[in-house]
Amino acid sequence: MAATTATLSAPGTFDHDVVIIGAGPAGLCAALYTSRAKLDTLVIDKLVPGGQILNTELVEDYPGFESILGPDLAAKMQAHAEKFGAKIIMDEVVEVRSEGPSGRVKVVKTMEREYRAKAVIVTAGGSPYKLGAPGEERLNARGVSYCAVCDGPFFQNKVLAVVGGGDAAVEEGTYLTKYASKVYLIHRRDELRAQKILQDRLFANPKAEVIWDTVVDEILGDPTVNGVRLRNVKTGETRTLDVGGVFIFIGFKPNSDILKGAVQRDGHGHIITNQLMETGVPGIYAAGDIRQQLARQVTTAVGDATTAAIAAEKYIEGLDELPDEPEWLKDAAVAAKSKSA
Ligand code: NAP
Repeated sequence: MAATTATLSAPGTFDHDVVIIGAGPAGLCAALYTSRAKLDTLVIDKLVPGGQILNTELVEDYPGFESILGPDLAAKMQAHAEKFGAKIIMDEVVEVRSEGPSGRVKVVKTMEREYRAKAVIVTAGGSPYKLGAPGEERLNARGVSYCAVCDGPFFQNKVLAVVGGGDAAVEEGTYLTKYASKVYLIHRRDELRAQKILQDRLFANPKAEVIWDTVVDEILGDPTVNGVRLRNVKTGETRTLDVGGVFIFIGFKPNSDILKGAVQRDGHGHIITNQLMETGVPGIYAAGDIRQQLARQVTTAVGDATTAAIAAEKYIEGLDELPDEPEWLKDAAVAAKSKSA
């Protein structure tokens, strides 16, 4: 029988109050908050809990932990969420959809089965694009990094290579000059894609130098990075550059395809939310790296997740009295209409 407003509260309509997709820091923090608020919470991740911090050797920018191994922090976050009753399972989510009166029932479809929830918090994160160069995987977290803020301080006075030519590479390359003795930005073309203001900042930095028309064919070193093998794509000339670390910024792919067509995303696939982490579909929230935002840090992920969890709790409390379209989306639509008029 299709759910009606009257049957929404009937036992058995929902399997859980909240389903959280992704068990990285954002998902585990959201689970801590919703389960502590006595909401029946299921967290689904296709891998073991921890997300990207499992690939981070040392975390030293999470308040209260001067220095902690990434996997240890992940285990603490998992135990903390489970202590309040969150259930964490391993499965792969393939679709999220809304059903019932005004879409009040959220259906999370996995490889195994479907879960029906009052609210869904999507914290599925994303992953940086990999170069695919030999040595990259072997030396990951041993000199190969995808996060300047996370790992920059470990490279004091080292010579570094930064790969990419977009905003992230240029901005993070400039940032890394705070620590490094020299930063080579290695770009495959003869012009940068990054915003002019970011380029100007990099060019004005005496510690930064751009190596144009060049790709990284191999990352060298054992057990840690000590160089890169470069190839000029115009001349074919190859050479080895001695570096103590390689930072790769060639784009970031949010894991948001499960919500394709269901919520608004930007051109890179990040989910667009308002400040309450609402996606525009009532009852579906997004938090952490999957969301369009300035920073991709553990601290920002857990901040987003806290907001999403509290917003979801309030949404569930008022589930039967919700308007069909959230006010902020109506306001945005009116603003967009008057702008285009
Ligand atoms: P991006 O803009 O897509 O740039 C990726 C860069 O990596 C491009 O220069 C590209 O080269 C290069 N690249 C791609 N694949 C490569 C490969 N296999 N080998 C070597 N180089 C490769 O990505 P992003 O810099 O991560 O930025 C993503 C989005 O976030 C953008 O919208 C950006 O504006 C935004 N962002 C903004 C800021 C800011 O405003 N401060 C900071 C960071 C990010 P080509 O140029 O030759 O294609």
